[in-house]
Amino acid sequence: MLKTCDILDEKDPKVRAKNIDMTFPLLKEEKKLIHDMLEHLYFSQIEEKAKKYNLRPGMGLAGPQVGLNKNFFVVCHEEEENVFKNYVLINPKLISHSEELIYSSGGEGCLSVNRDVEGIVPRYARVTFEGYDENGNKVKYRAREELSIAFQHEMDHLNGILFFDHIDPKNPYKNMEYMREI
Ligand code: ZN
Repeated sequence: MLKTCDILDEKDPKVRAKNIDMTFPLLKEEKKLIHDMLEHLYFSQIEEKAKKYNLRPGMGLAGPQVGLNKNFFVVCHEEEENVFKNYVLINPKLISHSEELIYSSGGEGCLSVNRDVEGIVPRYARVTFEGYDENGNKVKYRAREELSIAFQHEMDHLNGILFFDHIDPKNPYKNMEYMREI
């Protein structure tokens, strides 16, 4: 039986609050939360499970979205059809990025934003992140395209930033000619 995560809405102050670094070893509850977040994301991307548990599809979640104001995020990414890979990044740091910018053609979505927002968000096409996994091992991930967008979107959450903060409502497609659509 799935215990889905309670995901906070954008109006909840915790979503915008400051986040602190995690310390190792993680608490049992913290490890459990990470597991539940990943399971939630995985099930949300499997159509029949999403329907059964009434989950909106999403590929990433950050600590503040589930009420834990600490620096970590998880991503469950479909690397190829029906093959999912889990990423756990604790105390993450963006260590390098491409010059090239991209944006997601359909706009971005967020499990904490329960409304449609028009516009595009500029993101680096390629990024390298360093951090720790849930056991305190150092990890380094290079991400490109959709996964790169997900990492940057989740990292923003740790700074209290939501995707639409990057969108100018008066000009929601600003600078799109300088970016590549994916
Ligand atoms: Zn989000």
